Amino acid sequence: MADSDCVFCKILAGEVPADVVTSSETGVAFRDLNPQAPTHVLVIPRAHYENVAAMAADDPAGLAGVYKLAADVAEHEGLSSYRMVTNTGPDAGQSVFHLHVHVLGGRSLSWPPG
Ligand code: 5GP
Ligand code: ZN
Repeated sequence: MADSDCVFCKILAGEVPADVVTSSETGVAFRDLNPQAPTHVLVIPRAHYENVAAMAADDPAGLAGVYKLAADVAEHEGLSSYRMVTNTGPDAGQSVFHLHVHVLGGRSLSWPPG
C-alpha cells in the first residue's frame, strides 16, 4: 500500500521525522512543516490514497475514521472554530499526493479561499 516516493508514507514508516499530535488505527496527525495558522495539523490515513475520492471509493469507513481523528485533533487543540481542508489536484493546491486533511484554527479564517 505504501508508495516509496511519498513523503507521508515515509513519515508513517518513521523514515522522515514529524511532530505527531495523535494517532489511531486508521490515521496519524502531525503538525504541518509550514504552518498557516496557530494550529495547522495534517491528518493522513495509514494507507496510501492519492486523494479523498480514491479513499471514499475504496474504504469509506476508513475515511470516516480519518475525519473522526481530525475532529479529535480540533478538540484536543481547544478549537471551537476551525477549518478542515482537503485539496484535490494541483490547481486546488495539492502538492503531496497522499490524502491529508488540513486542520486549521487559532485565528480568524477568511472565506472564500483564494
Ligand atoms: P497540500 O499542498 O498538498 O494541500 O498540503 C501539503 C502540506 O504538507 C503543505 O502544507 C506542506 O507544508 C506540508 N508538508 C510537505 N512536506 C512535509 C513534511 O515533510 N513534513 C510535514 N510535517 N509537512 C509537510
Ligand atoms: Zn503515501
